[in-house]
Amino acid sequence: MNRIDNNHIALGADFLRHDTAPAAAGVESYMEHDAAVYRTLLESTKAIPWKIEWASMEFAYIGPQIETLLGWAPSSWKTVQDWAARMHPDDRDKVVEFCVAQSKAGTDHEADYRALTSRGEYVWLRDVVHVVRDANGDVQSLVGFMFDISERKKAEEKVAALQRELEALSFKDGLTGVGNRRAFDTTLQREWAGALRHAAPLSLIMVDIDFFKSYNDYYGHVQGDECLKRVAGVLGSAVRPGDFVGRFGGEEFALILPNTGADAARQVAERCRDRIAAEEIAHERSPFRQTVTASFGVGTTIPAEADDPVAFVNLVDTQLYRAKDNGRDCIAAVNRAA
Ligand code: GH3
Ligand code: MG
Ligand code: MG
Repeated sequence: MNRIDNNHIALGADFLRHDTAPAAAGVESYMEHDAAVYRTLLESTKAIPWKIEWASMEFAYIGPQIETLLGWAPSSWKTVQDWAARMHPDDRDKVVEFCVAQSKAGTDHEADYRALTSRGEYVWLRDVVHVVRDANGDVQSLVGFMFDISERKKAEEKVAALQRELEALSFKDGLTGVGNRRAFDTTLQREWAGALRHAAPLSLIMVDIDFFKSYNDYYGHVQGDECLKRVAGVLGSAVRPGDFVGRFGGEEFALILPNTGADAARQVAERCRDRIAAEEIAHERSPFRQTVTASFGVGTTIPAEADDPVAFVNLVDTQLYRAKDNGRDCIAAVNRAA
């Protein structure tokens, strides 16, 4: 028997002495003398038992299951250095520091980390550590169990990914894929606060497709939906990466342009108008070259503490109505940042 084998028999007795108090002395003496019972118990569980001597920081024992799980033979686990070295670099410092601090304080603890396998892959482990002290209260050794938690981690990661996906979906317009009304409200609130803080200009463009009711009447709702998707795509292509495009409702879209003055905002609106024209979506009932057009309301402000974002949205909406009154397929703008 090698050193590890001898030790794990002794450790087996140790484990049970710490964790349970046998009811009858007869049972205790039977078990103390039957090391094979402990060995079978320890080595038949999926949890991998181990023991580290505090003074030398050497492994006194590690269950043979470790080789099945990670591919490293028990005899290769000599010191805590081996344990640390076989940890994912991103987990190592944090976990080692935490475990050392907890052990020094004599506190039982647990840590999750990725352990390296001999094939160069990583397995998520949970190490549950019990600090054993001598009669003087000094730390004598650490005993613990390693649990393979990779399945649980996988499930957790899947749930987290689904949560992120749901979160993203809850801010998306189901038809067009641009932001929805909820995303508009959230973005406006955020950008308004940012503009207020930095005394920066903020612009808003409201877009409404012209004669869309007659488009639907003529082409039907399904094609109406296709038209909305194409217009949303065009608007998305006309803005910069930091800008927001959302569907405000029906055939109305809203663009939020942070750090954008009145001239630049008007240019964006013009670009949107030009690109919608270039798309040449047929609209038999439109007086504008029988193609789909839109009207634009543009507003720019440098928010002050007393200003209300809802009032600003209404102001821009008024510009949209002006554009409609002016004959549609045009832009009306107001500049409150001047
Ligand atoms: P204006 O030029 O003044 O904007 O007139 P309009 O016909 O575009 O405006 P109106 O408000 O009279 O009609 C809007 C139409 O938009 C009515 C509705 O059928 C259509 N609409 C709203 N939401 C959707 C949608 O999700 N899909 C489709 N296909 N049509 C929609
Ligand atoms: Mg409308
Ligand atoms: Mg309309």
